[in-house]
Amino acid sequence: MDIPCKCSLEALKVMGDLQNIQAVVDVETILNLTHRVWLQGNTMIQCENCIKMAQSSIVTLPALSDGCLPLLEALCAAYDISTQPGFFDSAMLAFEQPASPIICIRNQVFLGRTQLDDYEARLLVRTLLARDLIRFVELMEALKEALTVLLDGNHVHRNAMATFRACESSVESTISRLAVLMQVVEGDCDAGMS
Ligand SMILES: [Zn+2]
Repeated sequence: MDIPCKCSLEALKVMGDLQNIQAVVDVETILNLTHRVWLQGNTMIQCENCIKMAQSSIVTLPALSDGCLPLLEALCAAYDISTQPGFFDSAMLAFEQPASPIICIRNQVFLGRTQLDDYEARLLVRTLLARDLIRFVELMEALKEALTVLLDGNHVHRNAMATFRACESSVESTISRLAVLMQVVEGDCDAGMS
């Protein structure tokens, strides 16, 4: 007996929060929201109901991850995380993304009672950014695997098949966009080393 899960409902909720985000947000809000998306994605990937069901909510995962990208881009912009001025814009233009409407304002960052200075806060934010990007790439890879299993199954309805194929290509484009952002963050790390 299948007990329907709450994944689609939760996914809708978090998608709504992504879409209704304020134009000006702080670092904490961004990190909280991307964390929620990632958690929800993981829940769905591990949910037997979502994985087995032909028309499952896991196909919304690339869109959810894409929704986080402008937020992560805003983080980059807030902390000047980029080595080549303009690189970021042109790379994003390649994906026909409109300029990010979201502006991130810096938070004061404390470690215990010690307030981190700008340099330290920037290092921390960059580390968290890299972590988020890796998490989303891993999520997309897991989704790709799940889709492969679904598509290999011979009991999948033709309509569902088309949905999964479309989702597969969304996964690829999401991974490319994550890779661009990863390049920016890594380039910044390398520059910081020298
Ligand atoms: Zn589920």
